[in-house]
Amino acid sequence: MRTQPVPLDTPTLLANVMSDVYPDARGRFGPFGGRYVPETLVPALDRLQAGVDRYLHDSDFLAELHSELDTWVGRPTPLTHARGLSQRWGAQVWLKREDLTHTGAHKINNSVGQVLLARKLGAKRVIAETGAGQHGVATAAACARLGMPCTVYMGEIDMERQAPNVGRMKLLGATVVPVTSGDKTLRASVDEALRDWVSDPNGTYYCLGSAVGPHPYPYIVRELQSVIGREAREQMLKMTGSLPDIAVACVGGGSNAIGLFHPLVKDRGVKLLGLEAGGIGTGLGENAASLAYGTPGVLQGTYSLLLQDENGQIRETQSVSAGLDYPGVGPEHALLMSIGRVKYEAVNDDDALAALAECCAVEGILPAIESSHALAGAKRFAHANRGTKILIGLSGRGDKDMPTLQRTVLKGLA
Ligand SMILES: *Cc1c(COP(=O)(O)O)cnc(C)c1O
Repeated sequence: MRTQPVPLDTPTLLANVMSDVYPDARGRFGPFGGRYVPETLVPALDRLQAGVDRYLHDSDFLAELHSELDTWVGRPTPLTHARGLSQRWGAQVWLKREDLTHTGAHKINNSVGQVLLARKLGAKRVIAETGAGQHGVATAAACARLGMPCTVYMGEIDMERQAPNVGRMKLLGATVVPVTSGDKTLRASVDEALRDWVSDPNGTYYCLGSAVGPHPYPYIVRELQSVIGREAREQMLKMTGSLPDIAVACVGGGSNAIGLFHPLVKDRGVKLLGLEAGGIGTGLGENAASLAYGTPGVLQGTYSLLLQDENGQIRETQSVSAGLDYPGVGPEHALLMSIGRVKYEAVNDDDALAALAECCAVEGILPAIESSHALAGAKRFAHANRGTKILIGLSGRGDKDMPTLQRTVLKGLA
């Protein structure tokens, strides 16, 4: 649904961001966020909100969460000095290594936290939706670990495209339900998951995979992913003696980026840069860059920026990276962009793949194609600003991307 842009009181919004007041009591980040859901979902969201208030910052909950993060997920993840990239780019480049987490990407931080929360709330089963399959795998793994039955909704088309992840979810004990309605991809899967949740909101917990959706999800996901930025901030201070000049992350729904940025937002001297999927061009349908090219509107329960046509029809997105291929973005990013605290740019497919190859060759690290958008954006910044200290959120590893890399980067090497 398309709406008129809301006029913004930028100085007040910025002052609020710097004093960490968002989201407000109505689940809003300035004008963005909120809850645009059918009446039937309101009691379930209210219950979830009550659980979040009670448990998310409770010391017993946090002790259990941190024990799982340390001994099962593999936290804290290292901060690596990227010597080769630093030399080539004329910068000091540091990589926050979410690629080294269990299951290979930052998504596990969120899944393990939400499945623990589900247990606290007395849920009997967990459901999730997945597009590329990464969130489904992370949630299936967390459910197996914590003894929760898990059902994952996945579009029929996505199941074909991401067959190895379907197998991984099944091995991890999840039931994978093919979604044959609507677009047969992620958006239809969200609708199916919501339908399931409404039918038993007390017994079922819906584990959402990015910083999107109705309140309180963008808040839950931000809080659980902020472990990335808290660790990185401390590691930068300890290993380099000061904070970075800039922190850089890729943005799909925006969970790894908000996790890195949130603990740095109040550090005025640290620039923040989010990189979206620029796909093959700037036209509608040629990319997945909702902040760079989108307009305000409502998608899946939240008011944010979307890729939609002039009638408010959501448009197909395009990106070489499945994990960034989403027509919306989390509401907190929409606010941070609107008030100028974070800058967002698009990186096209070719530049992301080139950055991936460069990182492999000189760092011995195969990054996810999603994360390679952050690398390419950081490289661009380094060339325009010589000698700066750059912190890059490396959101995941690229092993899952081998089929795409066979068709692209490796073809060029043959
Ligand atoms: C899913 C995914 C992303 C995109 O999701 P965000 O919520 O924007 O972080 C980025 N990188 C990797 C490796 C992913 O799996």
